[in-house]
Amino acid sequence: MPQSEFIVDRTLKTAPCPTCGKPAPRHSIRTLHPQDLHHGRIQVHISRHVCRNPMCPDKRRYFTARAQGIEKASRYTTAVKTKALKLLEENTLERTSDILQRDFNVRVPSGTLHDWRVAAMETEVRHGSELED
Ligand SMILES: [Zn+2]
Repeated sequence: MPQSEFIVDRTLKTAPCPTCGKPAPRHSIRTLHPQDLHHGRIQVHISRHVCRNPMCPDKRRYFTARAQGIEKASRYTTAVKTKALKLLEENTLERTSDILQRDFNVRVPSGTLHDWRVAAMETEVRHGSELED
């Protein structure tokens, strides 16, 4: 596995509580290791927060601030997904998986590609054709 020194800091001092919306202070920092198109496996620092609003039903619950540019489940950056969806317009799942591996050294199983395509199509139906960047 190639090691990369590319580090992205996505930590926040405070993040809005998903339940009450009040700013919640940072509790700790986590490091993710998603795969990126041009840097291989990168390091992304994200922050965990805890709500201290005494009126909040979820007070003292920990949550992770949503990291922009990182896909859910944290295994890939959004750049990888955007590239994959472009390739899928003209290639099969298996071929797209091969191209990503060959050109970018990113391994994305065809099952994940399938999920991305389905999700993208659902998003298109709901919001027009904008893709997240
Ligand atoms: Zn709260």
